[in-house]
Amino acid sequence: MMFEQHLHTLEDQHLRRRLRTMVSATGPTVVLEGREVILLSSNNYLGLATHPTVVEAAVAATQHYGAGAGAARLVCGSLTPHQTLETALARFKGTEAALTFAAGYLANIGAIPTLIGKNGLILADRLCHASLIDGCRLSGAMFRVYHHRDMHHLERLLARRPSGRPTLIVTDGLFSMDGDIAPMQDIVELAERYDAMIYVDDAHGTGILGRTGRGTLEHCEVESRVPYHMGTLSKALGSAGGYITGSASFIAYLVNTCRSFTYTTAPTPGSAAAAVAALQIIEQEPQRRTRLWENRAQLAQGLVRLGFHLAASESPILPIIVGDPGRAMTMAQSLFDHGVYAPAIRPPTVPPATSRIRLTITADHTPEQIDRALVILEQAGRSINLI
Ligand SMILES: *Cc1c(COP(=O)(O)O)cnc(C)c1O
Repeated sequence: MMFEQHLHTLEDQHLRRRLRTMVSATGPTVVLEGREVILLSSNNYLGLATHPTVVEAAVAATQHYGAGAGAARLVCGSLTPHQTLETALARFKGTEAALTFAAGYLANIGAIPTLIGKNGLILADRLCHASLIDGCRLSGAMFRVYHHRDMHHLERLLARRPSGRPTLIVTDGLFSMDGDIAPMQDIVELAERYDAMIYVDDAHGTGILGRTGRGTLEHCEVESRVPYHMGTLSKALGSAGGYITGSASFIAYLVNTCRSFTYTTAPTPGSAAAAVAALQIIEQEPQRRTRLWENRAQLAQGLVRLGFHLAASESPILPIIVGDPGRAMTMAQSLFDHGVYAPAIRPPTVPPATSRIRLTITADHTPEQIDRALVILEQAGRSINLI
């Protein structure tokens, strides 16, 4: 009874969520509920989830090592593909070492509590990803949020903090629901000035930001000043899992203290091998990144021309803020009915009154697909009087 009541309440508030089954791969178009639609909501920015080389690497590793790793890494699941991936990640990011996790979510909820505990203070951007918030809560540290990207607010909180508390600043690199970038130069300066640690989650920046795709820290030119950071293998890398790169001693410390590393089965050998192949492609095919940004420009310029207001996005994540969740649902339904899949993102994923259609574009979309999507977006935007 309790479950149904809760679901009714969500339904009334237009906040109920339902799973939709996709019967195709995550390409630029997909087959969903029996229809072929243009997909504008995956994080597969470079199209690597379906890249033949990446898929072949997963198949080959699965054939050699099996479908599952057999156990946690410290028990018997530490396989060659995990080692190879960590070496490749460390080299790509220019750190001594790296550690991979079965999910980015697990990396965050495990690593943050190893950095700070009950006597510490966490200062987090208000729009941090839920996995960061959960990691902060698990740490038991005192927790404060600063206004989104507001460095004056962050500095006020740093200046006024209770003395003697170790402090950790927590932020997304590229924000997952807004597509804007953390002011890392300023954050690093404040951290240095106020003797605070920094934990950056670069799930969305990795592979797409920076001259060579190393991510937000490369983009902001602060790599040498941020000793460790976290990211995922599940977005631009097209595979699954999370990672942390840093010094050899920090990584060894995580192996010994991070509960979400120790007490879970190792990632599948196939997903590790896929991520290795994806990293190689990111380094060898910079033209994919170029295409992604060209596509991003075509979609963003088209949306602005149609009269959509595009928040502060600086990336392939382009949120169209609608406000009311019911209206966002209506717009999403209209998009789907006419051939575009981009679901309404609603609270608690985003703050109240900022329900949105979060569009993401990939390197694999063609200019024709983007033009067609724009026609459908115009129709859907008009249907709710947004434009
Ligand atoms: C997706 C995401 C995660 C979680 O990563 P998974 O590998 O999907 O578990 C963590 N942080 C941010 C910012 C994300 O967007």
